Amino acid sequence: MNNASRDVVVVGAGPNGLTAAAVLARAGLSVLVVERNERIGGSCRTEEVTLPGFRHDICSAIHPLGIVSPVFERLRLDRYGLEWLTAPLALAHPFDDGRTAVLSTDLERTRESLGRDGTAWLRLMKPFVERHRALFREILRPIRLPGHPLLLAAFGLHAIQSVERLARTFRDAPARALLAGSAAHSMLPLNAPGSASFGLVLSIAGHALDWPCARGGSQQIVDALAACARVDGCELRTGVEVRSLADLPPARVVLLDLTPRQIAALDGTGLTGRYRRALERFRYGPGVYKVDYALSDPIPWRAAACREASTVHVGGTFEEIARAELDVNQGRVADAPFVLVAQQSVMDGSRAPQGLHTGWVYCHVPHGSPVDVTEHIERQIERFAPGFRDTILARRVHAPAALEAHNPNLVGGDIGGGANTLGQVIFRPFPRVDPYRTPNPRLYVCSSSTPPGGGVHGMCGYWAARSALRHAFGRDLPEELELA
Ligand SMILES: Cc1cc2nc3c(=O)[nH]c(=O)nc-3n(C[C@H](O)[C@H](O)[C@H](O)COP(=O)(O)OP(=O)(O)OC[C@H]3O[C@@H](n4cnc5c(N)ncnc54)[C@H](O)[C@@H]3O)c2cc1C
Repeated sequence: MNNASRDVVVVGAGPNGLTAAAVLARAGLSVLVVERNERIGGSCRTEEVTLPGFRHDICSAIHPLGIVSPVFERLRLDRYGLEWLTAPLALAHPFDDGRTAVLSTDLERTRESLGRDGTAWLRLMKPFVERHRALFREILRPIRLPGHPLLLAAFGLHAIQSVERLARTFRDAPARALLAGSAAHSMLPLNAPGSASFGLVLSIAGHALDWPCARGGSQQIVDALAACARVDGCELRTGVEVRSLADLPPARVVLLDLTPRQIAALDGTGLTGRYRRALERFRYGPGVYKVDYALSDPIPWRAAACREASTVHVGGTFEEIARAELDVNQGRVADAPFVLVAQQSVMDGSRAPQGLHTGWVYCHVPHGSPVDVTEHIERQIERFAPGFRDTILARRVHAPAALEAHNPNLVGGDIGGGANTLGQVIFRPFPRVDPYRTPNPRLYVCSSSTPPGGGVHGMCGYWAARSALRHAFGRDLPEELELA
């Protein structure tokens, strides 16, 4: 490695590390990003892991938080090759009785799909959908005095509840399950305080701007971030695993796109005492069991709406999803798991050879679980798409251990950078005035273990970069990137 001194070294080239690098390079600092894998991207990568010509999103696939991300918008990632693609529906959620709840930018379509709960659903969502830009600016950040206190208070009153409680707003299965499915992205039990927030955020984003994928694969998002950073002089090194800060070239500041356990294991940080104990106490969530499929045909969903959707939530009623998520949180493999299915090749012809398709599927499993749940997943999909198994040309499985080998941030298969308990969502990684700073004035944390948490939106990197710029360099962000 070229050992010339830099202003900043970023360890880890995930979406947050790269966003931090792009922001700091734009501010005129010399920035080096060091990544252990041969390719950049962390949990935002696209590879041919089944058959030639099938491009699979190994981890993140669908990006409601990417399309609403204020920093992605400000960095003009479209100029660096990022293009969002949408399907006619953001989300479909089928039931055994033939009904299908849908989430759509066409609010009337959602209302119709929810029967007698349609009006109540719109009453809950519409005020936030109409003000989504202000809302996402408020919540995709660390806690501070709000710029829109009434809007945030109205949101908070719903969001702080468990989804079990908020779903009592609705009388029938479709609306209750539609909310539960999005809330289950939190990997929390559905009776956990704050679990409603995930259901609300993802539903509002879906109504406001859709649930898109990136043309060509999620890799395009990180490639666009890297291109944007490089234009401002940022240098990227891959294939370099950092075990000690002494491995790095001299720099005034180091930003870590790592989770607390990895930070605690890093040599030379000088982090001791209470901060180190808090790092070690940080809680991780359940794991994920991921399967990528090469398919001969689109998934043969019984319900037509599922064939039109970017994402399909497979898990049946609220009660079934609640049972599955409780099992996982109590350390048991769910017999009938809640399965998330994304259908990128329906939106993007570049994902598979002409006429063929990809399938992106995962379910939650206990933290670090070694159990093979491929059969459980496929049984659930067959329930709503009979004949699915006949379309499978090849599959590639990533159990929690394989995910963690692919990216050490995925501790025990946890894809959220830590458990999404109410305390850890609000104060991430743990209560501090500035969650990005550490007691070592040279060291900052920029991963999804900081606010606003998991997902490909780059906002953890943005706020960490802003903090480092202020405190270590006494500078403000360039005007075009200032969001405060
Ligand atoms: C299976 C799966 C599905 C997901 N689906 C979605 C989705 O559909 N939509 C969505 O928005 N989000 C999704 N996510 C979550 C999203 O991908 C993450 O929240 C996001 O990637 C976090 O970004 P990050 O930059 O904080 O960390 P990461 O993406 O984890 O990147 C961290 C980087 O640091 C590197 N690194 C780690 N240790 C070292 C070291 N010692 N030295 C050097 N480099 C190191 C890693 O190799 C990695 O490249 C999914 C995640 C997974 C795993």
